[in-house]
Order: sequence, then structure tokens, then C-alpha cells
Amino acid sequence: MLKNKTAIVTGGTRGIGFAIVKKFLENGANVVIAGSRQETVDKALSQLSEYGEKVTGICPDLCNPEDVQKAFLDIKERFGSIDVLVNNAGISSRTSIYDYTIEEFSKILDINLKAVFVCTQAVARIMKEQGQGAIINTSSMVSKYGQPSGCGYPATKFAVNGLTLSLARELAKDNIRVNAVAPGVTRTDMVASLPKEMTDRICAGIPLGRMGEPEDIANACLYLASDMSSYVTGVVLSVDGLATN
Ligand code: NAD
Repeated sequence: MLKNKTAIVTGGTRGIGFAIVKKFLENGANVVIAGSRQETVDKALSQLSEYGEKVTGICPDLCNPEDVQKAFLDIKERFGSIDVLVNNAGISSRTSIYDYTIEEFSKILDINLKAVFVCTQAVARIMKEQGQGAIINTSSMVSKYGQPSGCGYPATKFAVNGLTLSLARELAKDNIRVNAVAPGVTRTDMVASLPKEMTDRICAGIPLGRMGEPEDIANACLYLASDMSSYVTGVVLSVDGLATN
């Protein structure tokens, strides 16, 4: 489904991002993992050695426009195009409003929102010149419902939906589609840190009766990245077993 396409996946070293990287490789894409540290990028690449030169890694500071632009232009030079960007990198929080420091609030805004803006701006310039592209943002089911602690996290995901819908409208004329996936609770390190009672309670309320797997989210990203969704833009696609909170 992605033959002859090149995709960049931020935070592709583990969890949902790594599942997306694998899914895209299985479907013929060249894939670039944009990670935060060379060490974790190398570890991910070592698990993908069967794909040889079709997969590589970069570590720009995702909040630094010059850094990101340079890294993306290098990728375009190497592979000839950048057809898909998945803005997946993210961190979560469960800090109470009473304890939130401004530093912690700024950090979550930086990674979950500012980096999405910076990477999207850099790739949109390249995609406009190419005449096509697909951008996929990683939102969350909490962008519909909020959550009872860690208010910075849903705040960033509501904002990601806002970027998605607005940029879908702004970039449609350049044949760049902008969509988002909104995972429910998904089995990754991010969720492993939550108390078991909490995940059990959440799963008990999911009509499809189970937690999401990273591959569930990767499948949705494959659809949104491929030409199968060529008339789909501005969608926030829930992949949550119909979770309601
Ligand atoms: P994870 O913690 O397993 O992986 C997050 C990835 O982001 C890691 O590869 C990490 O290195 C990377 N990352 C963090 N900060 C970075 C930075 N500054 N620069 C580059 N990379 C950075 O989490 P996950 O569960 O795989 O989450 C992936 C995305 O899915 C996130 O945006 C998250 O908000 C979203 N999400 C996850 C769930 C869930 O239940 N797991 C639910 C809804 C949404």
C-alpha cells in the first residue's frame, strides 16, 4: 500500500510509533524514525535490520525549526520525496492542577503540540513543492472527554485536533491531506506506568472488551497514509473500541 513512498515517524522507537514504522515497512515504504536519542533510535533500527537501507533514523530537536528543516531536507535528498509524516512523539501526565509546575506544563506543550507544528511546517513546505503528501497526527480519546488529572495532556490533544482540522482546510489546495488518529488506552510503556486498577476499570468500560494494541493504531495510520484515503482529510479517527472516558 505504500510502495515508492517515504514516511517519517516521530517517536518511532517504541510503542505505537514503532508499530507504525513496522507496518509501513511491511507495506513497502521507506521509513525514517525521528527519535530523541541516537541510542534508542539505534536500538529500534537493530530490530528492523531485515529492511536494510529502507529504514533509517534521525534525531533533530523536534521543537527547533532549523534543526527539523535541515533533517527533513536531508531525507528528501536521500529518498527523493517525503510522502507521509506521522506526528506520533508524545508524553503524558497525571499531575494534579495543584502540583503542576509551569516547567512541566511547558514541556508537555513542547513535545505534544509545538513539535507537531514545527514538523508539519517543515514537511508541508516539501510536500507543497512535490504536489502531494499525507500528514497524520496522534491525538487521543481524551481529546473528546478530557481526563480527571494531568490536564496538560488533554489540552495538547484538543489542540492537535484543532491543528488537524485547520491545516486540512489550509493545505487541501496543495493536495496535502491532514488527518489524526485518536487512540484509546493502548498497550505501550505510556500505559504500563498507570495503576492496574485504573487500566482494568477503563478496559471494563470498553464495548469491544479489550485494550488497544499498537498494531490497531498502526492499521489506521496505514489507511490514512495510503492512497486508499485519498479523499479523506480533516478527520480525527477514533481507534478506541468505542471507549467513552
Ligand atoms: P511511548 O511512551 O511508548 O512512546 C512515545 C514515543 O515518543 C517514544 O518513542 C519516545 O521516545 C518519543 N518521544 C517522547 N519525547 C520525544 C522527543 N522530545 N523527541 C522525539 N521523540 C520523543 O508512548 P505511546 O503510547 O506509544 O504513545 C505514542 C503516541 O500515542 C503519543 O502521542 C501518545 O500521546 C498517543 N496516545 C497513546 C495512548 C496509549 O494509551 N498508549 C492513547 C492515546 C494516545
